Amino acid sequence: MRVNNELPGVPGGPGSGGGGRRRLPPQLVEVVAVARLTPRLVSVTVSGGDLSRFGEAAPTSHIEVFLPVPGQAAPTLPIITPEGRVWPDNEPRPTVRTYTPRSFDRAANTLEVQFVLHGEGPASEWAQRVQVGDTLAIGGPGGRFAADLSTPRWWIAGDESALPAVGTLLDALPASVQAEVHLEVAGPDDELALSSAAKATIHWHHRRDPQGFGVELIEAAERGAINPDTQVWVACEASAMRRIRRLLLDRGVPGASLVTRGYWRRGVADHPDHDYGDD
Ligand SMILES: Cc1cc2nc3c(=O)[nH]c(=O)nc-3n(C[C@H](O)[C@H](O)[C@H](O)COP(=O)(O)OP(=O)(O)OC[C@H]3O[C@@H](n4cnc5c(N)ncnc54)[C@H](O)[C@@H]3O)c2cc1C
Repeated sequence: MRVNNELPGVPGGPGSGGGGRRRLPPQLVEVVAVARLTPRLVSVTVSGGDLSRFGEAAPTSHIEVFLPVPGQAAPTLPIITPEGRVWPDNEPRPTVRTYTPRSFDRAANTLEVQFVLHGEGPASEWAQRVQVGDTLAIGGPGGRFAADLSTPRWWIAGDESALPAVGTLLDALPASVQAEVHLEVAGPDDELALSSAAKATIHWHHRRDPQGFGVELIEAAERGAINPDTQVWVACEASAMRRIRRLLLDRGVPGASLVTRGYWRRGVADHPDHDYGDD
């Protein structure tokens, strides 16, 4: 058995309201539905175990998914000890990645997670081939929401990986709020229906360069009517997030009004799940 303190936990942090790192033991769940929402976004609904804690999940909170390696029926699970995770010897480590609990159905005890099919990457490849009956494990949810949902004006931006989180945020914003939302996706087929009680204006941006991740969001931030009292929430590729964060700070938007998150980093596998760009 080996102890590992370095694998991602279920973090809080500046962008999610702090709260330290909690280690809820992951639980095995079974896939009960799979639906292709867009050509590059797969909805996976899971059930099993006690999912009731997801009834209280904050908007934009996150989970860890533990995925079996090819050839395994179920992922190897760690034992949670005060010293960290203990992994059984002689068993393959699972793929562990961070995702968003998109929606929880208390009556059915089901949780929906939406996976971007971005190409190479064990989680994306798992989602490409996932079927009803498959087994995975989930840990969490983690992350409280720091910003005040009743702040009158919001500026929200995200790429495909953030569509589920933006969906949870739009679900949570009250009718009194005005939200300008910028979403960058590959093309028109990747747009998704989103609804909100808030007065939300949704701008879809299609990547002019297929590899230009975040470019459209940076331009939207440059043009955006963002005042010091606007609450900003951004999640996308980590370098693009930093560009947006820097340009808004330079324009006088206070750091306290910014929730910025790098959800992945170009060329890096398993980007840390607590990248707030405040370095
Ligand atoms: C708090 C949080 C919530 C998240 N919620 C979701 C969610 O609900 N749905 C979701 O799909 N993702 C979400 N992500 C992003 C997800 O964790 C990463 O995309 C993750 O890297 C995917 O793992 P992988 O095994 O497919 O690829 P990895 O093995 O991590 O990476 C392999 C390669 O793929 C590239 N890559 C990774 N992700 C993307 C991407 N989205 N687009 C293009 N290239 C990419 C990497 O740069 C790397 O070169 C979230 C991340 C965080 C931090």
